[in-house]
Amino acid sequence: MTPAGEPRDRAATAPTGNVAVMAAHPHVLLLRHRLTQPLIFLEVLCSPRPDGVDLRHVRDAGRPDPELQLLEPGSLGAWAETTSQSAFRPNRSAPSLRPGWRCHATTDANLNEALEQLYPGALADWNAWEHGVATPMSFREFVGRQTGMYRVAQDITDAGANAAARAGCTQELCLRRRCWGTPGSGPAPTTEPDGDGLAIPCLEPCALVLDLVRWMAKEQETPQIHMELTSGELESLETAVRIALEHPPEGLREGSTRHPSNPRRLHLLATRLRDLGSRAEGHPPNKGT
Ligand code: SF4
Repeated sequence: MTPAGEPRDRAATAPTGNVAVMAAHPHVLLLRHRLTQPLIFLEVLCSPRPDGVDLRHVRDAGRPDPELQLLEPGSLGAWAETTSQSAFRPNRSAPSLRPGWRCHATTDANLNEALEQLYPGALADWNAWEHGVATPMSFREFVGRQTGMYRVAQDITDAGANAAARAGCTQELCLRRRCWGTPGSGPAPTTEPDGDGLAIPCLEPCALVLDLVRWMAKEQETPQIHMELTSGELESLETAVRIALEHPPEGLREGSTRHPSNPRRLHLLATRLRDLGSRAEGHPPNKGT
């Protein structure tokens, strides 16, 4: 989502390496204004220096410069494409950016290009939000626009939409703050800054959440299986899900919900199990098992 009438990639396609092009990058002006101290942009630590802005992974905050690979702004996109385990990153806002690099942005154009390469569209969304002109799209409006194989997403129940947003946008999978609402989910989450971290908004569901919703919409049409569990069994199941999330199989594609180990499917299951546990609290013990 971008401010009205402004193409998201305008700044990214502007010429780089020239201080004279500063005015062509309005998205950077507010950030530079706030950069009187180091700030965290998703997983990137931005530190003002006398001759520009130093960018590096937040986990590399204390590491000396020579220990880090110096990257040009234009090469950060390729760097951000894969995780440390060489897995493709379909969501650039996932907390899986590889550390071990630094980038020195000497101009506004450099800074804009670096952040755009790492997090396409994020700076534009943040600016729009900060200037009060962002317009988050509601979940129903978003799925209402889907056609073809994703049209089925329109069939998801309101409860399913809420569950998809909770599980699909959990901070363990995405660092953006979801600002789009689902039916009956109440006020959108706030985008208050978190310490030195800027709150980067998410203004509409992404392809990963859409894929989850599509999968859920199809699943809700399949026969349901009911079973009774003791609290100990429930605990074991929750532990198994947590272990599965911590140890994904090699080659798992985060972008596809076809695999039962898909992290969003597992988070969905974990949420359901947690809710089940909360509901069961206070119920009399089941002596039948
Ligand atoms: S829809 Fe959710 S997972 Fe996707 S980018 Fe937005 S906050 Fe992140």
